[in-house]
Amino acid sequence: MQVFDHDDARYVEWLKNNPAGYVLNYKKKPRGPTLHRAGCIFVNNPGPKNWGKLTHEYIKVCSTDKASIQKWIQDEPMYYCQVCFPELAVQPRPRPAENWIKKDDQVFLFVRDTVKLFRVESNDERTEITDLSAMANILAWGRKIRSKTAKRILNGKD
Ligand SMILES: [Zn+2]
Repeated sequence: MQVFDHDDARYVEWLKNNPAGYVLNYKKKPRGPTLHRAGCIFVNNPGPKNWGKLTHEYIKVCSTDKASIQKWIQDEPMYYCQVCFPELAVQPRPRPAENWIKKDDQVFLFVRDTVKLFRVESNDERTEITDLSAMANILAWGRKIRSKTAKRILNGKD
């Protein structure tokens, strides 16, 4: 798998060499990342108008193996392009109700429904983060981790 970030030339080269590959158009906001086939007009449009923008605002995560792209984005919801995956272009799979986050070697749990953020200790004790700016800071700069990884860190095995 290859990730192209501010690298249009190598990205276009990859498209040429992998006509049957997959391209994840990746930008966190405002919408989730969208998966395309390498030949799709939305991601394979290296005309002069788009040159210099192909891998900038949206980086490109490319592979000939769809599963490895899914693995790369972990728990984030992934959309399928309505043009090149018409059969799959439905709503993304539901987002997980909780997200584990790691920041400054601490583990946090974000609960979507209630929009609450907790710091989790190794004994599973949870302390709610009520300060809004602290919360925003953790959500913006923390790294999303898998629940398995969180458990490993909390158990001191990481
Ligand atoms: Zn597409």
